[in-house]
Amino acid sequence: MSRPSHESQAADPALPVDAAAIQHAATQAFATWTRSLPVAPSNPTDFIRSVEPKVRRACRLYTTITERKVVWKDGPTRGSPPVTGLRRKADSVDPWLETRESLHESSLSILPCSACGGPGSIPCSRCGGSGDVRCSNCNGTRKAYGYASNGSRRLMNCRSCDARGTVSCSGCNSGRVSCSPCLGHGREQRWLEFVESVRFDLLVMTEDETLRGLPWTTVGMEKDAKLLGEISANGALSQDKVAPHLPEDWLQEHWGKTRIALKLQERITSQLFQVFEAPAARVSYSIADALPTTVQFEGQRMLAPPVSADRQFAARARKVFAARLVLLALAVGVPFLYLIRGSYFWNGWLVALCVSLGGFAIVAEHLVRDWTLGRKRKTRRRSIGLAVYALAAGFVAQASEPRLADALRHIWAGRLDAANKELLALGKPEDPALQPIWSELHLAHALRAETVKEVVEDAVLLKSGSPQRAKVNQRLLELTRRQVLQSLARKEPASALEVLSIARPALEQDFSKDVGVLTANILETEYEACSTEACRWKTLGAALRAESTPGREQRLGQVRATLVEQLSPKPRPKVMTLEWLLHLDKTRALTTELGETPSDADLGERARQAATWTREERERIPLIGAERAVAISLLQLTTGSDTSLLTKTTDSVALYCALKDGRCAGAYLVGADKSSRVLNNLKHTATTKELLSRVMGHPVELPTPPQLRGGKSPTQTTWKDGGVTIVARWSSTYLMELRIGEVKP
Ligand SMILES: [Zn+2]
Ligand SMILES: [Zn+2]
Ligand SMILES: [Zn+2]
Repeated sequence: MSRPSHESQAADPALPVDAAAIQHAATQAFATWTRSLPVAPSNPTDFIRSVEPKVRRACRLYTTITERKVVWKDGPTRGSPPVTGLRRKADSVDPWLETRESLHESSLSILPCSACGGPGSIPCSRCGGSGDVRCSNCNGTRKAYGYASNGSRRLMNCRSCDARGTVSCSGCNSGRVSCSPCLGHGREQRWLEFVESVRFDLLVMTEDETLRGLPWTTVGMEKDAKLLGEISANGALSQDKVAPHLPEDWLQEHWGKTRIALKLQERITSQLFQVFEAPAARVSYSIADALPTTVQFEGQRMLAPPVSADRQFAARARKVFAARLVLLALAVGVPFLYLIRGSYFWNGWLVALCVSLGGFAIVAEHLVRDWTLGRKRKTRRRSIGLAVYALAAGFVAQASEPRLADALRHIWAGRLDAANKELLALGKPEDPALQPIWSELHLAHALRAETVKEVVEDAVLLKSGSPQRAKVNQRLLELTRRQVLQSLARKEPASALEVLSIARPALEQDFSKDVGVLTANILETEYEACSTEACRWKTLGAALRAESTPGREQRLGQVRATLVEQLSPKPRPKVMTLEWLLHLDKTRALTTELGETPSDADLGERARQAATWTREERERIPLIGAERAVAISLLQLTTGSDTSLLTKTTDSVALYCALKDGRCAGAYLVGADKSSRVLNNLKHTATTKELLSRVMGHPVELPTPPQLRGGKSPTQTTWKDGGVTIVARWSSTYLMELRIGEVKP
């Protein structure tokens, strides 16, 4: 067996390399690569120091490996030839030494049919080889229903099987059928064949082992490398054939590795050896005077190194980023500071400041970018622009600041709000340097103000004793006097007093006399409106203290004399009780109205005595027998709608007064406290005693508990007080009720 072999020799492997083309491509690739770096320069190729073109070579070995396996095949024979037995053994065959035809011819063997064993027929499966099957009509019973000649239906001998129970099998001939594998010949033939399976192997070989890691040698070799030539062989390529394309020593060392491990029945059926050439370039670059960095571009596509291979542009980008951060802080931060300095700065100057700082930042950013690339001329040009923007920003910042002169100008022109804004922007009002201008502003404001309150607000901000304060006070006094007199003319002393109280803190020091006169005027108006002597005495006294005049003093004396007369205790004249009671109440009210009299101790003492006297005098009037109106007054009741009963309830005791013919004919006392009705216990005794004394018009003691009489405690005791019968009801020693005079429970 000879194997067909074919070899082909391809193009000249030593193709000339165009160094200029590689340089050009590498330059382009470098430009593209740098553009992917942060803050890429616009003309990256300017930074290339050298481009070193190179050519790399790599080989590829494709191997097709075929495996042959020997297998038996079989089939039917034509006719029934004599049996030969097996002519060959499969494991003794080397498939690579035979052709398909020779193997078939030498191994073809005739054997008895393995299915039927030689006869060419096998027993019938349907009848089990007997040739008969059970009759389906009678089911083997030989009898079946049918119709007799007279038309009646009955069980008769089976007609299908003639009452035998079985019929002949229709699927066979006397119980046997022809054998299908041998088509009835009783023989089979066998022969040997080989089956092929194919696998492939790919090996990349390079001059330089480090190249194996490069992308173009692993994928896309066609894209990045040029095929210089190829050798193919049907069967294995020999080292001699490959030798012209690879250095001899390299071949010596590595060719052995290309051997492929083959299995027993495997053979290399073809091999293809390809030689590729790929361009590469080492590009050195540097920014300004830095030491160059070298990066490598590979393949026809000039595959770029990873971004991390760069050092110089990254370092420069960090500087630019830092500068940007500072500039952004400046361009945003400074206007923000002006914004928060106050509304004074919220104007066109701030806009101008934003614009000039923005311009400054933009120019400065460009400058940093040029400077970090070492572009001296451009940097110089940019710095001129930068200076212009800096000057503009400085000028705007200066112009936007507040000025004292402006504040003064505003005051003189009457633009007080503008002046106020300017001054506030200049600093705190407490600043001594600003004090005179603030004073001018307050003065101007006060002279313009129409209400006392506004003028006072300005006045208190001015230093006491300063000429401005004096002017403002003068103005304040005029305004106050006018408003007080207007209020008094309208008989509204309260509003006059309000105006004066606002102005008083500012005026008290310099114009105490004028304030006094105005106060006295107001008090005189109040005096005229008085309805009681107490009111007159009080207002007149206060007016006299505010402004002392002989006439006022004399009048006060007269009012005091009247008061003293009214407060003096006097014996009860012959008048009705009710009238006397009214007089007492009036005197009492006078003492209450007078209250404390720190300015007149003697009058105060008289008022206290009068108060005591009226109280005692009141208590001397008995409730029993009093007219209804008197009783109401004595009990200090506000209503008396019930015509038959008056009720006075304290916290603990209730007093009921029964009316008869318009007079209090009788009264009774009970505990008001629902949980404790007892009148003579610790809590109730004092109140009960006081109420009982009121009823009688003189002090009365509570009765003592009655003595036991015959082992029993009496429930009622009676006694008389000045002709009035008093009945006490008891529960043991507890006083439960008191009845005074004519009263029925
Ligand atoms: Zn057969
Ligand atoms: Zn039958
Ligand atoms: Zn059969």
